Amino acid sequence: MLEVKNLSKIYKAKNKDGVDTKALDGVSLSFAEKGMVFLLGKSGSGKSTLLNICGGLDSPSGGEVIVKGRSSKDFSQTDFDSYRNTFVGFIFQEYNILSEFSVEDNIALALELQGKPKDKNAINDLLEQVDLTGFAKRKPNTLSGGQKQRIAIARALIKSPEIIMADEPTGALDSATGKQVFDTLKKLSRDKLVLVVSHDRDFAEQYGDRIIELKDGKILSDVSKTARPNTSVSKNVSTVGDVLCIKRNAELGEQDFEEIKAFLKASKSDVIIANNENDVAKFKKASRINDEGAKEIFVDTNGDKIEKKNYKPEDSRFIRSKLPMRHAVKIGASSLKSKPFRLALTIILCAVSFVLFGLLSTLSFYNSESSFKQTLLDSDREYVAFDKQYLLTEKGYEYGEELYEFDRLENGVFSSDEITSLKSDFGNDVFGGVNTTVEYGVRSKTSNYWYTSIPMVAHIPQGNSLRDKVRGEYPENDGEICISSYSAEMLVACIPVNSEGSQSNVSSPDELIGKYVRVGNRDYKITGILDSGSIDPKFDSLKTDTEQNFALMSEFDAYLNDGLHLVAFVSERELLNVAKNFSNAGFAYFGDERRAFAHIFSNELIYTNDDLHPNASYDKLTNEGVIYFGATKTALSDGEAVISAKHFAEHISAILQNRMQSMPPHDDKGNINPEYIKVNELFDKVNTLSSGIVFEYDENGSHKSERPLTEAEYNSILAELIDEFENIEMTVGLAPSNNQNVTVGEMKNYNVVGIVSDYVVNDYTKETSIYISESELNRLWDAQKVTLEHYTEVTTNYVAPKDGIYNILFAPFAKSQEQTEILWGIYSNELLDNNSSKISLSGYYVNNLRGIDTLVKDLSKIFLYVGLVLAVFAMLLFSNFIAISISQKKKEIGILRAVGARGIDVFKIFFSESFFIAMICALISTVGSIVVCGILNKTLASELGASLFVFGIPSFLVIVAIATLTAVIATFLPVWSAAKKKPVDSIRAI
Ligand code: ADP
Ligand code: MG
Repeated sequence: MLEVKNLSKIYKAKNKDGVDTKALDGVSLSFAEKGMVFLLGKSGSGKSTLLNICGGLDSPSGGEVIVKGRSSKDFSQTDFDSYRNTFVGFIFQEYNILSEFSVEDNIALALELQGKPKDKNAINDLLEQVDLTGFAKRKPNTLSGGQKQRIAIARALIKSPEIIMADEPTGALDSATGKQVFDTLKKLSRDKLVLVVSHDRDFAEQYGDRIIELKDGKILSDVSKTARPNTSVSKNVSTVGDVLCIKRNAELGEQDFEEIKAFLKASKSDVIIANNENDVAKFKKASRINDEGAKEIFVDTNGDKIEKKNYKPEDSRFIRSKLPMRHAVKIGASSLKSKPFRLALTIILCAVSFVLFGLLSTLSFYNSESSFKQTLLDSDREYVAFDKQYLLTEKGYEYGEELYEFDRLENGVFSSDEITSLKSDFGNDVFGGVNTTVEYGVRSKTSNYWYTSIPMVAHIPQGNSLRDKVRGEYPENDGEICISSYSAEMLVACIPVNSEGSQSNVSSPDELIGKYVRVGNRDYKITGILDSGSIDPKFDSLKTDTEQNFALMSEFDAYLNDGLHLVAFVSERELLNVAKNFSNAGFAYFGDERRAFAHIFSNELIYTNDDLHPNASYDKLTNEGVIYFGATKTALSDGEAVISAKHFAEHISAILQNRMQSMPPHDDKGNINPEYIKVNELFDKVNTLSSGIVFEYDENGSHKSERPLTEAEYNSILAELIDEFENIEMTVGLAPSNNQNVTVGEMKNYNVVGIVSDYVVNDYTKETSIYISESELNRLWDAQKVTLEHYTEVTTNYVAPKDGIYNILFAPFAKSQEQTEILWGIYSNELLDNNSSKISLSGYYVNNLRGIDTLVKDLSKIFLYVGLVLAVFAMLLFSNFIAISISQKKKEIGILRAVGARGIDVFKIFFSESFFIAMICALISTVGSIVVCGILNKTLASELGASLFVFGIPSFLVIVAIATLTAVIATFLPVWSAAKKKPVDSIRAI
C-alpha cells in the first residue's frame, strides 16, 4: 500500500550561520495494508516529518514515497493533495476542526471535498461509533477536547480512507480519554493501515502491531508484534516463556504436579499463584499474554513478509478535491465581520473609483459621428455654412525679445475650385459672403436682443431659390441693400439713422423698403427684406431683461451668427467692392503691427486733413489698382513709395493752394488770370475727389443738391490730375515711430512713383497707407520694434487665392445621408491642405458639438486618470484586506489542506470573499453612478440640450467587470502565496 524509499529531509538553516537540520536520513519502510503502526521516538527525532511526508503534506528532500505503486517522483502538489483527499484520514493533536462549521458540517466537509454529497446517515453512524450520538448540530466550541478529537476521527473516517495518520492524537488528552482514542484507532486498524506518531512506549507496545523507532532521522528499530504460542506441558499446564499457566478449575493430575514442581525448582524468584480475576488479567496484560494464552512479543520486522500487492493503475486513481462554493463563501464571509472599518474604507474607495469608471463608460458610448449626423438630421436647418481657415503663427515680443509663440486658425477665402466642388455636392444654390465689421446706424439700441452688426455681406445670384424669400426687390445697383427680416425688425425697434423721414414713420418692417439706412458711414437704399426665419422664443427674455444674462447672450450671439439673421445682401459688384475693402482676402498680415506706425513728413504743405497724416502706415504693395506715374513696376525699389489716392489728393490740394496764394487772380488790367481759373478748377476737382461728393449749384451759384461721385467721374478726375502732376517731384518723408507717435529713427525721403486708385474707400487703413519696398518696410520696422513694450508678428504659409472673395459659403442642406456624410468628413477633418488651410463648418450646432466633443474628451481623461489613481489605492487597500484575512484564516487553510483541499480551493475561499466585497462595491457604485449621472445631466442639460451620461446595462456591466478585475488583481498575489504553500507549512502556522 505505502512504501518509502531512502527518504531524506533537510531543513535549510534560516540564517547564513545556522546549520541545516537533517530531519530524515535515508529512511526506507514498507507498510502493510492494515494494522496499527507506531512511530516512536524522542522529540525531534523526525516522527512528524516522516508522517507528513507519508501523508503528502510535505515533500521529501530525497528518496520517494510509493503509493499503490505510484512514485511520488511523478507527483505534483495537486497529486499529493488528491492522494490525501482520496486515501488518507488525518488526525492531529490539536483536533483542527473548523469553528464556524457545525459538527455535522465539519465531518461532511471531508466528504464534500471528494465531490460526494453530505450523507447524514453515514455521519450519524460515525458519531455513534465515536460515542457522540446526537452531537451533529453542535458547534465545536461547545465540545470538550476528547469530544473534539473524536469528531476529528469521525471526519477522518467519513471518506473511508485506506490509511489513517495520527500525529500524537492523544497529546492533548488525559490518559483515560487517550485510551478511548487508541481503542477506537485499534478497532479501525483491523481493516486499515493506521499510522500513529507517539512517544508513549507503553501505548505503542499495547496497541501497536508494529513499532518503528526513530532517532536523529534514522530508523533505530523496527519491530513487529508476533504471538509466541504456549507449550502444553501436561494436560492442564502450559508454559509461555517463563510463565506457567494452569487452566481455570483444572483437576490436576500426576503429570501436572510434576511439571509444576519442575517449574518451581527452576525458578529464581518467588512464585505467586493468584486466582483473583482482575489480578490475573492485569498480569496477563503486563506480560503480553493474550486470550489464547500466547505471549505477544516484538521481533524485528521482516520486510519480506510484508505483503506487496501488484497494483493496477486504477487502484491509485486519485480524487481531486472540490470545495463546494457555499463552503468557500461561508469561510470567506466569516472574516468580513471582524474588520468593519477597514472593510468600509475599502468599499468606499473602490466604489468611488468604480463610479468614475462607470461615468467613463457612459461617455465612451457617446459617439461623436452619430451625434453629429443625428443633430444635423434632426435639425430644421435649411442651410449649412462653410468657412475657410488657415494656420497662422503669432509671436509676441517685448522690446524685441520674443515672449511667446502660438498657432491659431484665421479666416481665409475660398478658391473657385473649392466653390465648384461644394456646388457639386450641394447644388448650384451655393452662394458666398464676405466678412465685414460694419454696423447699421440706429438711433437707440433698446435691448440686448437687437444686434446692429453686419458680420457678413453676401450676394445671392439670379436664379438662386433663396431669392424667392425676398420681399421687395433684390438689390442690383451700387448703394442698394437687402436686409434680413431680423435686421428689419431690429431697425423698426431701434429706429434707423437716415431712414429718410421722421422717427415715427417706420412702424413695420415692410415700410423700410425704399428707405435709406446708414451702413458704416454710407447710406444704402433698402430694396428688399429676406426672410431669415423666426428666432427661437427662448431668447425673448433678452428683449426686456434688464438683468444681463451673459450665458444666454453669448448663446444668442452664436445663434444669430448661425444663419442669415445678421447677413446683409447686395449686388455682385457691391459685394466685390466690400470684399476688396473689408475682407481679409490676401491679407496675410492680419494682426501684424508692422502696418501700424510711421511718421509722415511732406516737403510740401502738411496735409489739410488731420485724419490722414499723423499715423500713416506702410505696407507691402499688391499692385492692385496702382497707377504708376511712369512705367509700370512689379516691385518698388528702396526710396520709392506709392501713396493712396486720398494722400495724392491732399498733396495736390496743398500744392494748388500754394500756387493760388502766389498767383494774382487778375492782371493789371483787371482781366481774370486764366491760369488762376485753371488752378481754381483743379482745386475744386481735387476737393470733389477727396470728399467723394459732387455739389451741384443753380444759375445763381447757390447750392442746390449733392450726390455721390460716380466711378466714371472719379476715374476721369484722377486721370486728369495724374496727367497734370505726374511730372512734379513728389516726396514723402517717413520716420519710424513708436505707437505714441514719437519718432524713433531718422527720417528718409521717398519719391512718390504712383498712387493706389480706389473709387470708394471706407477703409481708414488703406486711405492712410503708404507703400514702400519690403526691405524698407523691414528696415523701418526693425528700427521701431525695439522701442515697443509689446508687439506681435504673425506669419503664415497660406497664400490667398487670386480669385478668392468669399470668406463664407452658404449651401442649401437637403438632409440627405450623402450630404451629412460630406459634412461629417469636413467636421472631423483636422488636417490642413498644402496651402496651410482647410474648409471647416461654421455655425451654432458646430460649436455645440465641438463643445460636447471636447467635454467628453476632457471628462473622459479626468475620469480615467483619477479613476486609475483611485483604483490603484483601492487595489492596495483591497489586497491588504485580503492579506489580513488570509493571516486570520491560516488555521482554516491548514485544516482544509490536511483534509485534502487543493491550493485552488484556498483560492476559492478568498476569491469568494473578495468577489463578495467587489460586488458590494459594484452595487454601491452603480447606485452612485446613476445619481451622479442624473446630477451631471441636469447641470449640463441647458448647455448640451441632450443627456450625455446615459447609465444603462452596458455601463453596469462595465462596473461589474472592473469590480471583478479589481478583485482578481487585488486577491491574486496574497492568495497565490498562501495557496502555493506546502500544506505542512499551512498546518504548522496554525
Ligand atoms: P518530532 O515530530 O519527532 O518531534 P520533527 O519531525 O517535528 O520531530 O522534527 C525533526 C527535526 O526537524 C527537528 O530537529 C526539528 O527541529 C526539525 N524541523 C522540523 N520542522 C522544521 C522546520 N519547518 N524547519 C526547520 N527545522 C524543522
Ligand atoms: Mg512531532
